[in-house]
Amino acid sequence: MENWLKKRVLLSPNKIAIQAGNTKLTFKEVSDRVAVLTARLANKSRKGMRVALLTNNTIDGYLMILSLQQLGCEIVFLNKRLSHEELQYQLEDAAVSLLIYDESLLHEEFVGIESLTFNQIESLEESRDFQLVSEFNDDEVTTIMYTSGTTGKPKGVQQSFKNHFYSAISSALNLGLTDKDNWLCAVPIFHISGLSIIMRGLIYGMTVTLMDKFDAEKVTFLLKESSVSTMSVVPTMLQQLLEIFPQEGYNSNFRCFLLGGGPIDKVTLEQCQQRNIPVIQSYGMTETASQVIALNFEDAENKIGSVGKTLFSVELKLAHDGEVLLKAPNITPGYLNNPEKNQEVFENGWFKTGDIGYLDEDGFLYLKGRKGDMIISGGENIFPHEVEESYLKLTGVKDIVVAGITDKKWGQVPVAFVILERKLSQQELISYGREHLAHYKVPVRFYQVMSYPQTASGKVKRRELIQIKEYQKNLIK
Ligand code: ATP
Ligand code: MG
Repeated sequence: MENWLKKRVLLSPNKIAIQAGNTKLTFKEVSDRVAVLTARLANKSRKGMRVALLTNNTIDGYLMILSLQQLGCEIVFLNKRLSHEELQYQLEDAAVSLLIYDESLLHEEFVGIESLTFNQIESLEESRDFQLVSEFNDDEVTTIMYTSGTTGKPKGVQQSFKNHFYSAISSALNLGLTDKDNWLCAVPIFHISGLSIIMRGLIYGMTVTLMDKFDAEKVTFLLKESSVSTMSVVPTMLQQLLEIFPQEGYNSNFRCFLLGGGPIDKVTLEQCQQRNIPVIQSYGMTETASQVIALNFEDAENKIGSVGKTLFSVELKLAHDGEVLLKAPNITPGYLNNPEKNQEVFENGWFKTGDIGYLDEDGFLYLKGRKGDMIISGGENIFPHEVEESYLKLTGVKDIVVAGITDKKWGQVPVAFVILERKLSQQELISYGREHLAHYKVPVRFYQVMSYPQTASGKVKRRELIQIKEYQKNLIK
């Protein structure tokens, strides 16, 4: 395919490509800025080189992404919330030759890796002797992004131009596209949720509004006063926005929220329905370059708890154990430096997601949990999620995480780590479970904790939790 930025400037030079705060740039202006930046970067980077990027959601970060892409570099996205040690691991794992970073995000250099701040790049001389890539080849890897690390060490996921292209197309075939679309990106651009908005912007010729930190008040102001049509959110963002939903509603161009990262609860859904705010729920992973399955608003009420149906270019089937297998042009060509994992997850053109679910008669997918989290106790399968859902309805239980531990008699048994809001005894907790769940699903022991080990994006690391001895100290009496 022709270089997307070049093509976009040809097709819609005067369209606003990006806006943040008071700054607005058209695609032509973006391209001019990228021309200067690539000339500077050309001294330090060339085609095929792996360059790590540590940035906030800023226009500078956006321009850096496009410029590195124009030079044919593989951009390794770093999560700004990771520790120095975690970042060092990713830089080494990806064998990065250069690190580019926003000076506000890093105060300690990395050993053995050449690095440049955004400011330093400003003062680099402009090279005259370099070439921009003329074509974005389907199978070429353009970005590398590490998974969240919920189930173990984060894995480097390679994302090709084809992956991003089909991800954008599938989304458009589901949501539709208008020339007035303006997508608000308050999710990090170093995650696929944010990066995919930038890629859609280029491919659709759509305006992207960038916001660095989610702030419900500021977002509400934008949704009311600007022409934002779509916004990607995670459940907590949506809940905060609903709390301050303005009486007069959002601007007339507003079309929907795209919700990722987890399902909507019934109360939130009802609030959205009352206020006539469409929410599209979605399921996807770093490996699928954003959403592959979506639940449209009109189906939400009848299919509560479902993640939805596969997007147009996505094929789905379930393995005998319920594992969700996918085939789609937006699935990664593979993990970086991880032949065993690649061997494990790809089979005859299908990608094994590691998530377990079932389909209803209309083709809607329901997730039960992650394969590795399933507890097998005396031959019965237990999904922590189901047990947790049930206990969350018990007053006094603020949060709960269920995990399996080895047991001589049953192989594994479930135990629970709870955050309590009021005093509950071991006996009360067990009795509640016996009333609401099959006996083998009831945790055999409840421990009281104050918090859970989490990933940088706030997901509970269930597998790590059971390894931490501290957590098993406070057995509830
Ligand atoms: P790691 O692979 O390192 O353990 P991770 O799987 O959490 O981390 P991501 O790629 O950020 O890394 O997340 C994808 C996973 O998030 C999916 O495999 C799925 O388990 C979960 N997920 C995504 N969307 C939803 C959803 N709508 N509802 C429930 N779970 C979801
Ligand atoms: Mg994963």
